[in-house]
Amino acid sequence: MTRGNLYTVSAPSGAGKTSLVQALVDSTPGIRVSVSHTTRAMRPGEVEGVNYHFVSQDTFMEMLGEAQFLEHARVFNNLYGTSKVWVEAQLAAGTDVILEIDWQGAQQVRKLFEDAIGLFILPPSRDALRARLTGRGQDSEDIIDGRMQEAINEMTHYVEADYLIINDDFDTALQEFRSLVISQRLTQLHQSSRHAQLLQELLS
Ligand code: GDP
Ligand code: ADP
Ligand code: 5GP
Repeated sequence: MTRGNLYTVSAPSGAGKTSLVQALVDSTPGIRVSVSHTTRAMRPGEVEGVNYHFVSQDTFMEMLGEAQFLEHARVFNNLYGTSKVWVEAQLAAGTDVILEIDWQGAQQVRKLFEDAIGLFILPPSRDALRARLTGRGQDSEDIIDGRMQEAINEMTHYVEADYLIINDDFDTALQEFRSLVISQRLTQLHQSSRHAQLLQELLS
């Protein structure tokens, strides 16, 4: 079985990473997104187990103690972590996996998986970022101000990623993202493992 590719997708809050990742996963077979655990409060419209596994601080610390997380980080004063077992199972089954995680998490994943592919998503302007955070209508003005402040720090980490997408026109950004995922499946290493029998027939 050819192992799946592992992607980290980072972006400042409001750049559109959740919308892009959802649209990609919904329209592309063979790729799934990891549902993180978080101690942050649920937003209106969010569903337990779909957007996140919402857990208490105590449960999170217990899971951390049991080494259940592949990576974890504190972002905006909340804890976020990625399930190790789930990610490993998907990759082993040949499914590509997307981790929607902040730059601190992406750094940890890069150390653990040297083949992980890092993608960074940027907004077309600061004004657009604020407009999207406001337009999403799920955070208070105070929280939006905090996220705008943090956005600049998060964006300085774009240089650590392998690929960069500017999410200006949504459909263009989605097409670029899908092209990346498909091209990574076509590397000689992946293809020769996937088509081992064909290659044997062709070359014998
Ligand atoms: P949003 O990005 O504005 O939708 O806000 P969220 O509260 O959903 O996420 C806040 C930040 O936490 C973002 O930078 C996410 O990439 C990051 N994040 C979410 N899940 C994880 C995780 O499992 N690990 C790490 N390290 N970061 C995460
Ligand atoms: P993130 O997960 O990075 O915080 P979201 O996916 O929640 O961002 O997107 C933030 C808001 O911006 C959402 O209301 C979303 O519908 C909107 N949005 C995303 N991409 C675009 C785009 N290319 N043009 C306009 N609005 C967008
Ligand atoms: P399935 O292939 O049936 O959708 O999922 C396989 C297993 O993984 C199921 O036990 C399911 O509950 C679990 N699972 C699916 N998505 C996630 C996720 O994002 N995180 C975790 N921790 N488990 C998941």
